[in-house]
Parts: sequence; C-alpha cells; structure tokens
Amino acid sequence: MQDNESLLAEAQQLLFQQTLQLKARFETQQVELASLRQRQDELEERSRTDMLTGLANRSWLEEQMHKRFALCQEQSRIMSVVFIDLDHFKKLNDQYGHQMGDNVLQKFGKTLQSLIREGDLAGRWGGEEFLVILPDEDAQAAQVFAKRIAQRLEKTPMAHNDPHPIYVSVSIGIACLNDGGFGDAGELIDAADKSMYFIKRTGRGGIAVYGERGAPGAPS
Ligand code: GH3
Ligand code: MG
Ligand code: MG
Repeated sequence: MQDNESLLAEAQQLLFQQTLQLKARFETQQVELASLRQRQDELEERSRTDMLTGLANRSWLEEQMHKRFALCQEQSRIMSVVFIDLDHFKKLNDQYGHQMGDNVLQKFGKTLQSLIREGDLAGRWGGEEFLVILPDEDAQAAQVFAKRIAQRLEKTPMAHNDPHPIYVSVSIGIACLNDGGFGDAGELIDAADKSMYFIKRTGRGGIAVYGERGAPGAPS
C-alpha cells in the first residue's frame, strides 16, 4: 500500500515536471514563431519597396495593377493611373552630380507620398519615372491630383545647391479605366505613358489625359 502511494506520488511529480517542461518549450516556440513571422513581414515589405525612395517598387506596382484591374472588371469599378516623368533629369545629374539627382528623387518620392490618400498607391516605375494608382477615381479627379503635384513642385524646391534652390518640373500622363476599352492593366499603363510622352513632345511641364483634346487615344 505504502509502495503504491509513493509510486503514485512519484509518477505525479514526474508528470508535473514534464508538463512544466512542455509548457516552457511551447512558449519558446511561440516566441520563435512570432519572430519568424515578423522577419517574413519585413522581407516581404522589403521586396515590395524601392530602396532609394521608400515607395512601392515596379514589381509591386505591376502586381497591384493586375489585381486592381481584375477587381475593377469584376465589380464594374474604375481606377486611374498617373504616370510622372521628371523633366531634364539627365541635365540635373550632369550639372549637380548623381548624388544630388538621388536626393531629388528621394525628396520627390516623399512629396508624392504626402499628396496621396489612403488606398492610393505611389511607386517608382524606374529611373526618374513614377506611377500612382488611384482606385475609384475618374480622369477628372486624377487631373486635380496631378495639378496638385505640379503646383507643389512650383513652390517647393526638391534640393539646394547652397544657397540656390533647385526646382524640377514633371510631365504627367493620365489614363482612366473607363476611357479606352483597355484589355489589361498593361494597356492602361501604356496609355498613361503615351499621354506623358505627348507632354514631352509638346514642351514638358504639363498634364495630358488619355483620350482628351489632341492627346493619344483621342478621336482625330
Ligand atoms: P526628359 O525631360 O525627356 O524626361 O529628359 P530626361 O533627361 O529626364 O530623361 P532621360 O531618359 O534622357 O534621362 C533620364 C536620366 O535619369 C538618365 C539617368 O542617368 C538618370 N537616372 C536614372 N535613374 C537614376 C537614379 O537612380 N539616380 C540618379 N541620380 N539618376 C538616375
Ligand atoms: Mg524617363
Ligand atoms: Mg525625364
């Protein structure tokens, strides 16, 4: 009897110790899992980000464009794309150096980010080209947004060559989903790009909307 009781007490003690050990192991694994998840989030965030400007990079912009284009088609919604190219950027690099050029791109990225609303997505398409996705916005609203960018650049220098302020201008092309029978996201981006080039050809520092007054896509 005595033996049985002490055996039982010993077994209970063992079970208690093992439960404690398992609990401690479980807690350690929870902590490790949380840190792995955080690391994964950080890596994903980095893979979506343009390192110079902190904005979305091109591959993230493309992925988002495809997703949002499909969503618009499913739900009969619209979206606008704003394509922005800094004017005479090569000259700026040549005159003030590549580092100053980088500073201008960074400052412009911050400026762009400060002008968008929640739900919009601004990114760097490449070089000195930027793209903004405006969900549920028509071409007119996109034009108002583009004018705000242009006005901000008129007032705010993007860098200083001490003590002189350096201002930049941009050529902006806009395309809205409901203005052109676009087959996929790539065609919508192309339309915004073509409209931007229309501004380059006609003197730079302006805004063109795909399908409007002499711009690409408009009936001739
Ligand atoms: P346009 O008004 O016709 O757009 O002329 P542009 O000089 O802005 O355009 P172009 O395509 O001739 O030259 C773009 C320049 O942008 C050339 C390239 O060296 C510069 N550039 C591209 N990426 C970067 C970058 O990350 N940093 C810097 N500093 N310059 C860059
Ligand atoms: Mg360019
Ligand atoms: Mg340029």
